[in-house]
Amino acid sequence: MDENTGALSGLFAPERVAVVGATDSEGSVGRAIVENLRADFAGETVPVNPNYDELFGLDCYPAVGAIPDVESVDLGVVVVPPGIAVEAVRECGEAGVRNVVVITAGFGETGSEGASRERELTEVAEAYELNLVGPNSLGVMSTPTGLNATFGPENALAGSISFMSQSGAFITAALDWATDEGIGFKDVVSLGNKAVLDETDFVRAWGDDPETDVILGYLEGVEDGGAFIDAAREAADDTPVVLVKSGRTEAGAQAVSSHTGTLAGSDEAYEAGLEQAGVLRVENVQELFDFAQILSGQPLPEGDDVAIVTNAGGPGVMTTDAVGDSRLSLASFSEETMAGLSESMPEEANIYNPIDAIGDADVERFETALDLALGDENVDAAVVLSAPTAVIDFDDLAASIVDRQAHHGKPVAAVLMGGERTESAKGTLREGGIPNYFDPARAVRSLDALVRYREVSERAYEDPETFDVDRERAREILGRAVERGDNRLGVEAMGLLDAYGIPTPEGTIAETPDEALAAAERVDGDVVMKIVSPDILHKSDIGGVKVGVADGDVEDAFEDLVTRARNYQPDAEILGVQVQELVDVDAGTETILGMNRDPQFGPLVLFGLGGIFVEVLEDTETRVAPVSEREATEMVEGIRSAPLLRGARGREAADREAIVESLQRLSQLVTDFPAILELDVNPLVAGPEGVQAVDVRLTVDADELDADEPDADEPDAEELEP
Ligand code: ADP
Ligand code: MG
Repeated sequence: MDENTGALSGLFAPERVAVVGATDSEGSVGRAIVENLRADFAGETVPVNPNYDELFGLDCYPAVGAIPDVESVDLGVVVVPPGIAVEAVRECGEAGVRNVVVITAGFGETGSEGASRERELTEVAEAYELNLVGPNSLGVMSTPTGLNATFGPENALAGSISFMSQSGAFITAALDWATDEGIGFKDVVSLGNKAVLDETDFVRAWGDDPETDVILGYLEGVEDGGAFIDAAREAADDTPVVLVKSGRTEAGAQAVSSHTGTLAGSDEAYEAGLEQAGVLRVENVQELFDFAQILSGQPLPEGDDVAIVTNAGGPGVMTTDAVGDSRLSLASFSEETMAGLSESMPEEANIYNPIDAIGDADVERFETALDLALGDENVDAAVVLSAPTAVIDFDDLAASIVDRQAHHGKPVAAVLMGGERTESAKGTLREGGIPNYFDPARAVRSLDALVRYREVSERAYEDPETFDVDRERAREILGRAVERGDNRLGVEAMGLLDAYGIPTPEGTIAETPDEALAAAERVDGDVVMKIVSPDILHKSDIGGVKVGVADGDVEDAFEDLVTRARNYQPDAEILGVQVQELVDVDAGTETILGMNRDPQFGPLVLFGLGGIFVEVLEDTETRVAPVSEREATEMVEGIRSAPLLRGARGREAADREAIVESLQRLSQLVTDFPAILELDVNPLVAGPEGVQAVDVRLTVDADELDADEPDADEPDAEELEP
């Protein structure tokens, strides 16, 4: 038994496997599974089917419970028709079989009857605490034990990549191709409908598995974004996680009315969540396997400086361009290396990076150049490119590259260009863990993946800071709105930001012109006046914001704002007019802080350039909350217009630390209150001496707010004191 995959060892390294629904009927899935198991599996295969006494020379039993010593069966593979599949799983549970793979289709993927069958399946699995894969799964494989409990056409080659896929068809296609490429696997799982076990469980198991060097995934969605981030973060410390995420999930059912809602779609949530989890997200299947190969075969570079060794100018230039588009940079060689190169290379050769050993370079010249480059302390990695010539033997060159790479211990990617003649050389390189590509850009991107993963593995995760806030007051403000029957709140909820320590200008909601004047007189200088109505989301669109109103004009402005609102919507509910302190917008930059709830990842916070052009500029950064100080800083420094905040063209720099803190505080607010569905602070005016939130808009879910109430059964800290 393999202890390595921990909780899932019975799934990947079982000693006895029962196939429920085994059969010998030609072309059936039940037959394919038994045949695949009989091919290489080191353990025992036990067929179960009431219609046979014997199958393929093996004793066949009428039910799982009838198997002698059934306690020692670790894995049940269920291939019976959908109508009796749940019962078959229950039988496994009853008999003490802990791991079950449900191959049977006809569950959640087929409509409402299937969906209710799937719920039943989940209940049974939970009742018996089963590790259940599927339903609607191609099955599982594990090469150390030769387990192939799938109905795919072939077994995987052995290797150190563990691979999960939400598409069974993609597994068969990928394995077929990988076998040709000589790429091997440790475990393979077809996730199917993920009724019980999902991507988070496998990332967790493989993260702890010393035999898994790289975790690969092809996913259409993530069940629980938060749990996945935690698991992937932990795994990614020492095992790279590379994913293709295809398809777009439906955005939540909630109506999207905020800027953040339109700017932070569901794919942004994945982008942010996967990046925060330290996952290397790739665009296509090719990159998935390119990255898998180099990550499993090559060491991580210590720095980002790459040397290029070539016998052809053109491909050398292509490689240089690709380096320019990556995290890598072209290494500058030391004097010693330069001296060595000028001594050993012909006069016409280029001894600067890229080293062009020119067309008549033989293997020996290549080796000398590569040796000098990799021996240089300014070089962290190398790309070796060769076009076929009469004087170069690719097999010898491949052997030399493998040898020099192993000697120097720095990562190398090869680009031996050509067709047939590269085949055996590719085999040699592969055995040395060195990938070969036809396209130099792929070699560079693969090395870039190593750098990216090095950054991930060195990342220190910090816990999000918890600020001292007035949570009770925030709850009251939300509660009052809900009592009024408003689920859309505007500037009347400014106190929410204040309660969480986000600076706001002085502001009063006046219900009469008199009250407005009194409020304005309490403020030095001119004021800003805004219509306050849950029916008016974008105030300036209807002329509902007046900036710089002198005391003498306040009463008229009040009447005017109310008239405008009435003209816009005669039955609009008007809560009053806000009289707000004037903020010096010209000295600062209008930015936006926002939040939107994603169905998989939960609260997403957003930062960007704000004001009225947010949607036009689309210059924003998103993260899954709660965010740490480092993450909030990355958001602020990560937007394209960040130089503007750092002070461009004689403008004073904005107080970026204050923005970062406001983002963290907002993150705490939306984490504390799941009832806040979306929220915009637009603008947050970021000046040289701090920030001011002058506008807010949010949507609340009244039902959730009730659920937020502190649990009456739980005594608070004071009551616990002896
Ligand atoms: P809305 O977004 O509903 O149109 P805002 O309250 O954001 O309303 O106001 C619109 C614009 O008016 C802001 O982007 C800002 O430029 C300006 N503004 C709003 N409040 C103030 C204020 N207190 N001081 C200075 N300018 C303000
Ligand atoms: Mg606004």
